[in-house]
This record gives sequence, C-alpha cells and structure tokens, in this order.
Amino acid sequence: MEFARHPHPSPIAEERRREILVSPGFGQHFTDHMVSIDWTRASGDAAAVSSAPHSGGEWHDARLEPFGPLSLSPAAAVFHYAQEIFEGLKAYRHDDGSVWTFRPQANAARLNRSARRLALPELPEEVFLEALRVLVSTDQSWVPDGDGQSLYLRPFMIATEEFLGVRPANEVGFKVIASPAGNYFGGELKPVSIWVSRELARAGHGGTGAAKFGGNYAASLAAQLEASALGCDQVLFLDPVRDNAVEELGGMNVFFVFADGSLVTPELTGTILEGVTRSSVLQLGRDRGMNVVERTITVEEWRAGVASGEITEVFACGTAAVITPIGTLVDGEDSFTSPAVDPATSVALDIRRELLDLQTGHGDDRHGWLYRL
Ligand code: PMP
Repeated sequence: MEFARHPHPSPIAEERRREILVSPGFGQHFTDHMVSIDWTRASGDAAAVSSAPHSGGEWHDARLEPFGPLSLSPAAAVFHYAQEIFEGLKAYRHDDGSVWTFRPQANAARLNRSARRLALPELPEEVFLEALRVLVSTDQSWVPDGDGQSLYLRPFMIATEEFLGVRPANEVGFKVIASPAGNYFGGELKPVSIWVSRELARAGHGGTGAAKFGGNYAASLAAQLEASALGCDQVLFLDPVRDNAVEELGGMNVFFVFADGSLVTPELTGTILEGVTRSSVLQLGRDRGMNVVERTITVEEWRAGVASGEITEVFACGTAAVITPIGTLVDGEDSFTSPAVDPATSVALDIRRELLDLQTGHGDDRHGWLYRL
C-alpha cells in the first residue's frame, strides 16, 4: 500500500524534544506524526452487514500526517457504541542506532482477532507493519536510547461513520500514534501491590475480555479506583463463574513460579487478553526446561502455595512494564504477601533480563522475534 506523505509544517523543536526524551514518563508526549488509513464498506455490501460484518470493504487513503486533533462528527459511532480496538508495542534503539520492534506480527494478529469480535474490518498484516515502519522511520529522532526507554506505538481502529443506528459502522479509521516511554513503574523494580476485585469483573464469558477493546479498560477503572483508595497499585480480576479463578491484572498477565520448577499461568478461556509478553515468557520458560503449564489457579491455591513454600514467585507481565514482581495481595479484610524477590535466584528477574536483552539487541534472537523498522 502506498502512503501519501504530509510532513508536519512545524515539528516540535529539537531542543524541546531532547528535553522530553530525558524523562519521557508514559503516554504523555507524542511524536510529530501519525499514520491514518480509512476503510469504507463497499456500497453493495451494506445489506450483508449482519452476515459478515467485517468483510466487503476497502482500506484506502493511507497517509502519514501531522499528529493532531481529529475531526469527527459528534454522531460518529465510536462515541456512542464504543466500536473501537487498539494495540500496544514498543520500538527500541539498538547500540548501532537501528530501531527494532518485538513480535509485531503477534500484535497484527491480535488486532485482527479483536476486529472480528468488535465487527470491525481486518487489516492485512503487511499493511500494519508498513504503517509502523512509515511512522517510526519518519519520527526516528523520537526513539530514546536511555536505559529502559523505548518508543511506545499505539495502533488503534475506530468507527468513524456518522450514524446513530446500532450496527457495524460502514466507515472506519485505523491510526498509529507514537509516544516516547521511560520505565513504566519509574526506575526501580519494586513489587506491585494488588487488590482483589471480588465485586467488579472486567469481562464475562462470551464477552470481549479476549479483545483489546477500549470498553474493557473503561470497565476496569472503577475497580482501579477502589484499589487506589486502599493504597494498592493494581487490580486483580477473577472469574466468578470458575471458583474465582485468577484472570489477570487491568493491563498485565499473571505468572506463578513453583518450587518444583513449574511455571504456571491462567489458561486462555476467552475472558483474558492473550499478551504477547505472556506467550514470550511461556516460550522462554520452555527454553529453560521449566514445566510450563496453562491452567486454572485460584486465589485460595495462591494463598496456600505461598504459605507452604510451594509457590516461590508471582509476577505480572506486559509490554509496558515487561515483568514486575507481585508483592502484597489485599483480599477484603485479608492480605498476604508473595515471597520477596531474591535477585540471586529469581526466575522472574532472570526472564525479565533475558527479554530486555533481546529487545534491546543484546540477546540471542533464536526465535526470530526482532523486527527492524
Ligand atoms: N492483559 C491486559 C488486559 C492488557 O491490557 C495487556 C497489555 N496489552 C496485557 C494483558 C499484556 O499484553 P502484552 O504482553 O501484549 O502487552
């Protein structure tokens, strides 16, 4: 697909950019450009919407343009029925100055799984990858090179059609924006505290939990407020239908290391997001000969495993924070703390180091996970 190029007439001054890159935080600053591609349903296919909501249209008008406000009708479907999906991945600068991302094909595939669930059109993988390349090559001076720094890429798709009827939109926009990022939890790797949400769920069976869909995140915010009010960093969501099985945090998957060498994570039941980091950790666990198991694990098993010493580490993983140990878990009146991280023996820290080394070009890319932008 050919991308038209409309460079920013007045990009952010170099001096200001350098200042931002010293300490970019997360999601606060944006690069000079964005990529946009529009989709329109073929007119003859509108009637076929109910049988094949995401087919019969065409991606067109691919362009690189200045980052800035969108012009959308107040009646655009996304504002009313939340027909929206997104992705998140990072680009890293390697020592020789080249810029790479990590398993972007997995993000392209997940975007399309989300698209099918939200009745949005699928985007061919090669167009997704080209969109990342066009944006990052144009704004490459925004890719930081400090320790733990990266350029966070946020592809997303929204229903732009001006229409208040409830049906899959006939006009859709795909965009990619980019934001320089520092260390997610700020520098040091301190264990996160978790509050168990027993009342509020983020997903239900047959729902949208497995899609990277904005509504899932909106649904998690009230629980996050409750967690913050109790002094906890993150929320743990459970599956009330399956004996309060552990699902995931608001934006990260969860892993358990057992004393017998097993690495356990909740299986994919349609209610949790299949993280790219999750699948990478599973592979790295297998590579080191661990007994890798995807299965149901309850808070009760977690508590008992910590008490008996069977569970030696608990950690969360995701693109933003990579891997972060879980410390105290607050469950109503009750609370317990997973074992403290011992840097000498920690599997979580070791896998974290391996992943970070890989992503920053200091590892052995035996699985072909790096992708040059
Ligand atoms: N679960 C949820 C709900 C998330 O939002 C994320 C972040 N995308 C993850 C898990 C981790 O996914 P990934 O490793 O692909 O970032």
